[in-house]
Amino acid sequence: MGVLDETRVALGGIGDLFSGLVSPGVRLGVTGLSRAGKTVFITALVHNLLSGGRLPLFNAYAQGRIVRAYLEPQLHDELPRFAYEEHVQSLHGDNRRWPESTRRLSELRLTIEYAARGVIARNTHGGSLHIDIVDYPGEWLLDLPLMTMTFEDWSHRTVSQSRIAPRAALAGEWHEHLASLDPNAPASELAAQEAARLFTAYLARCRTDAVSMSSLPPGRFLMPGDLDGSPLLTFAPLDVTPHASAPRGSLHAMMRRRYDSYVAHVVKPFFYGHFARLDRQIVLADVLTALNAGPSAVADLSAALTAVLACFRQGENTWASSLLGRKIDRILFAATKADLLHHTSHDRLEAILRLIVEGAVNRAEYSGAAVDVAAIAAIRATREATVKQGGETLPCIVGVPQAGETIGDETFDGRTEAAIFPGDLPEDPARALDGSLAGAIRFVRFRPPLIEAKPPLVQSPSFPHIRLDRTIEFLFGDKFR
Ligand code: GDP
Repeated sequence: MGVLDETRVALGGIGDLFSGLVSPGVRLGVTGLSRAGKTVFITALVHNLLSGGRLPLFNAYAQGRIVRAYLEPQLHDELPRFAYEEHVQSLHGDNRRWPESTRRLSELRLTIEYAARGVIARNTHGGSLHIDIVDYPGEWLLDLPLMTMTFEDWSHRTVSQSRIAPRAALAGEWHEHLASLDPNAPASELAAQEAARLFTAYLARCRTDAVSMSSLPPGRFLMPGDLDGSPLLTFAPLDVTPHASAPRGSLHAMMRRRYDSYVAHVVKPFFYGHFARLDRQIVLADVLTALNAGPSAVADLSAALTAVLACFRQGENTWASSLLGRKIDRILFAATKADLLHHTSHDRLEAILRLIVEGAVNRAEYSGAAVDVAAIAAIRATREATVKQGGETLPCIVGVPQAGETIGDETFDGRTEAAIFPGDLPEDPARALDGSLAGAIRFVRFRPPLIEAKPPLVQSPSFPHIRLDRTIEFLFGDKFR
């Protein structure tokens, strides 16, 4: 990292430090790949805090020290606000549905007033904590390693990966085009556009539920945010070796220049402007969809989460971070949608997540950040029941499956309740990676639960959840001193 880059973090940090003197705050990053559950998580977290949900494991709250919580006006005019009210609205009523998912970065400031214990806290800010929630696509996080990779490194790695199953079967069209390109031929705008289009279509195929790959940079190709249609996204990998040189005016030189622009104008500003200023981070992962797709999806998720943790270790020990004390000191990996399983499998889901991030976690703990894993459901859409079938008692979950979901030859209509046995997760988490689970578990999507509520909905009785309180305690419970 160059001195200039560090200075940029330091300046951002000084601004944060001054506002922190008035009233202390936490910048909480919420990330995860698309459909991991970020929007639902933030909505449920804020709703439970605003409306006094059931949070027995959030200590300051259980001790009766939380006085009130409220949303503050948007802090930064240039950033979109997390559409909290809209999301709460969509989760209520007969036509209730899950909210619109995260597609770009957004922010929300929640302030919690509490009965302070410490003398300093009582005499300075009187017991008030700002929580700035920063919601951003995990796809962007997986771009951070590009800062240390050349175009040739990235091309070589991406093309090699795409020649291995299950990716290889999805790359046919792009490979055909790639084989027709001569990197040393004169630069051609049309060739670049076509390569970018076919490469993006390949990435999108790798992301479908049935395949569920996770490591698919550049992140903006799948989650463009406000760069949709931008020329910054008009490049693709070429079939070159890591040390290939690019003749002037060649296709190779043009693709390399565009890749470098992407890193300079997209990846670095995200890192310095947002990522490097977070204090705490939760990384949500849809482990169940990966389990459904099979062991290569689980292995790829593991590789992606390891890459994510490596990002958190980048800015560590720079003079800027040690001067200002700004670095992420707590990271939680959470497997979402635990309500799709009977509670007897919740700890097993946690064990599988622990196994897939294990190597990475050990390294991060060594570097000083506290890392934990949890299986959670931000909004519990099911309840539990046991069903007797052929002399066997099956632990089932009961809820309204979404219209069009199927099990066997049954298709659900989106109105009728059903008891479903999703299968048991294995006691030995290693079985998630060895392929022996194939066909043993089957998840369906449920509609959100029906909550009886009167306006104002933003403060109506909150949604049921699984371990959201434990998550809150880990992420910022220690700040209520
Ligand atoms: P994002 O792309 O990370 O913002 O993901 P969302 O928060 O929009 O979640 C994607 C989908 O996952 C939702 O539309 C729901 O179908 C499902 N989902 C998310 N959280 C939960 C949960 O706690 N329980 C259940 N049953 N489904 C959830």
